[in-house]
Amino acid sequence: MPGVNVAGMTQTTTQHQAAPVPGLTDRDAGTTLEPALREATAVVPDRVSPAGAVLPGASPDVLTPDAPSPDAPTPDAATPEEAATPARRRAAISPSRAKDFRQCPLLFRYRAVDRLPEPPSQAAVKGSLVHAVLEHLFDLPAAGRTEQAAQELLDPQWQELQASRPDVLGMFAGPEDLGAWLAEARSLLTQYFRMENPTRLEPAEREMLVETELASGILLRGYVDRVDVAPNGMVRVVDYKTGRSPNPRFQDEALFQMRFYALMLWKLHGRVPARLQLVYLGDGRTLTHDPVEEELVALERDLEGLWESIAGAARARDFTYRTSKLCSWCSFQSLCPAFGGEVPPLPPEGVEHLLTVQGA
Ligand code: SF4
Repeated sequence: MPGVNVAGMTQTTTQHQAAPVPGLTDRDAGTTLEPALREATAVVPDRVSPAGAVLPGASPDVLTPDAPSPDAPTPDAATPEEAATPARRRAAISPSRAKDFRQCPLLFRYRAVDRLPEPPSQAAVKGSLVHAVLEHLFDLPAAGRTEQAAQELLDPQWQELQASRPDVLGMFAGPEDLGAWLAEARSLLTQYFRMENPTRLEPAEREMLVETELASGILLRGYVDRVDVAPNGMVRVVDYKTGRSPNPRFQDEALFQMRFYALMLWKLHGRVPARLQLVYLGDGRTLTHDPVEEELVALERDLEGLWESIAGAARARDFTYRTSKLCSWCSFQSLCPAFGGEVPPLPPEGVEHLLTVQGA
């Protein structure tokens, strides 16, 4: 099994087939669970969410939601409603916004400081829809979590998504375009059932919002798609992706979000998750990684360095643009000097709010 070297350490990272972890073992990576974990998760419903640490049902804040990208599950810069919300809770660093700043500080500014709304994209909304179906699938009794049940959940979830965000219908040229898009969502659900058997899973958590503050006072926040807990307390963190698995050269980048979650769960519960698992419905592959404490310590240092850069840019009122191939996906080209646009004045209240990431 190959390992990859990250920050000078060798960890176990596998695509296609996962190595066994004591007490938390896949028979085939991404396919089915060994009985020990299946039974354990059924009787240990919530080992990873002590009171006050996890905030299910809380609404996302400016730095929390996933950014739109070809693979992103949710299309979330601030919606007009969010932007108009008077009371805002403390800002936090999320994996998506950390990635934004590394990609382009101006992109980060538009999403996290200005909170400009962005048009929905078909890829991102499809991700949201499939995620919603998979989340609600686990509301059903285990025996009822069939592919047919999942397909039957698709229409009501699509109706709900349209009700919460009516502009999604504007993504489609016509009924045929919409029909093809819905067919793609259905085939992603079919793919899910080739990779996992949900009748044999009893997740401890789904769509879990987690927050934790580092010793440096920096607040982290993120959503975790699913958490499985074994009888011995070992934790597996699972994230669904509706895109395709990355080229091995980009695996490390793909795992950043999962390490971020592992760091938060470790800080909250004092135990490093045994396994991080990315389930790519786009091509039926699974990427697993078994993190070690040292890499999470290194990530913490990286995030502190990143926050220093973000706070420095905020204090200097200088979020410079940085072009890359990813500019093709950017909604803000009309406000970007690289594309002939003009940068609007920086909203001071946005900067003030951003700086609440680091407490006293
Ligand atoms: S178009 Fe590119 S350089 Fe300009 S803001 Fe967007 S990501 Fe940054």
